[in-house]
Amino acid sequence: MAYKIAVIAGDGIGPEVIAEAVKMLKHVRSDIEFEEALVGGAAYDATGHPLPETTLDLCRSADAVLLGAVGGPKWDQIPDPKLRPEVGALLPLRSELNLYANVRPAKAFGALVDASPVKLGPAGIDLIVMRELTGGIYFGEPRERREGGNYAVDSMVYRRSEVERIAQRAFDVARTRHRRIVSVDKANVLETSRLWREVVDEMAQGNPDVNVSHMLVDNCAMQLVRDPSQFDVILTENMFGDILSDEAAMITGSLGLLPSASLGDPKAGTVFGMYEPIHGSAPDIAGQNRANPIAAIMSAAMLLQYTCDDTASSQRIEAAVEAVLQKGIRTSDIAGTSEPVGTRQMGDAILAALE
Ligand code: NAD
Repeated sequence: MAYKIAVIAGDGIGPEVIAEAVKMLKHVRSDIEFEEALVGGAAYDATGHPLPETTLDLCRSADAVLLGAVGGPKWDQIPDPKLRPEVGALLPLRSELNLYANVRPAKAFGALVDASPVKLGPAGIDLIVMRELTGGIYFGEPRERREGGNYAVDSMVYRRSEVERIAQRAFDVARTRHRRIVSVDKANVLETSRLWREVVDEMAQGNPDVNVSHMLVDNCAMQLVRDPSQFDVILTENMFGDILSDEAAMITGSLGLLPSASLGDPKAGTVFGMYEPIHGSAPDIAGQNRANPIAAIMSAAMLLQYTCDDTASSQRIEAAVEAVLQKGIRTSDIAGTSEPVGTRQMGDAILAALE
C-alpha cells in the first residue's frame, strides 16, 4: 500500500460523516490502507483518556490523519480539563504531530452562492487562509496574572524559523492555485509583524513566480467583506488567521460544508497532514442519519491533494459534490423548503456522481 491513513472518527456525527469520506477515498484510490483508532469522548469512555498513546502512535506512523469531530455534553463535566476531548485530544494532536500550517479553503459552491450573507459578485469567493497554528500569542510566554489578578499579560512571540516554514507552505499552496499571496499582519504596530513582513519579503525574492503583497489585518477584515474575490491565498499568523478564517467561512454561507487541513513537515516524500471538517460533533443530530457529510468528504479531497499529491482525484470529488448540489440534492442543514436526504444518501449520490 502506498499510503497509510489513521482514521479517528471521534464522537457525535464524526463516525457518520467520516464513513462517507472513506467511501470516496476507497473509490478513487486502491493504494490507501485505513487503520481506525479511538479519540475524544469515545476514547475517554473506553480507556480513561481522550487521546490514548496507541492512537497517537498510530497517527505518528501514518501518512495522514482523517479526523471527524470530538466532544459533546456527555464529557463536558469531566473535572480535569486535560481529560476533556477538545483540550485533551485536539490540542495535543496538533502539537505532538507538529501541525503548524492550518489550511482553510473558503469556497462557495455555485449552487449555494445565494446562501452567502454578503452580496457576492460573479467571481464569488474562492480563497485559502493559510494560518500559522503553533506559535504567536496563543503559545507565547509569559502568560500570567500579576498584581492580585488585576494585571494580565499574554505574549506574542515569533521566531524567524516559524515564519519561514509557514510562508514556505503558503508558496507551495499558491503554486497549485493562482500564485497570489496576501500576507496579513499589523506591521504598523507590532514587532512580531515587522519580523513577519521582513521574512515574507525575503522569501518572495526567492519565489519570483508567486506574487506577494502585504495588507494590515484591519483592512483585510474589511476587504474580505467588500470583495472576497480579490484574494487567492491569505498568509497570516495564528490569532489573525483564527479570526479571518471564520469570517471567510461565513462569507461562503455554508459553515457546515467546509474542510480543513493541518499540515506538518513532509515525511518520506509526502506531506503529512491531519484533515477534518471545520464543524463539531453536532450532538443534537448525532445518530440520526441527518448530518451533512460534505465537509468530511471535502476534507478527504484535501487529503488527496496535499498528502497524495493527487489533484485530479481531489478535483473529481469536488466536481461530484458540485454536481449533486446542482441537482438540488440537500441534507437538512441546507435543504430550505425542499425534502432533505440523509447522510448516507448524500454520500451515495456523490459516489454515483463520481462514477
Ligand atoms: P457544531 O459544529 O457541532 O454544531 C453547531 C450546529 O451546526 C448544530 O446545530 C449542528 O447540528 C449543526 N451542524 C454541525 N455540523 C453539521 C453537519 N455536518 N451537518 C448538519 N448540521 C451540522 O458546534 P457546537 O454545537 O458548538 O459543538 C458541539 C460539540 O462539538 C462541542 O462538544 C464542541 O466542543 C465540539 N466541537 C468539536 C470540534 C472539533 O472536533 N474539531 C469543533 C467544534 C466543536
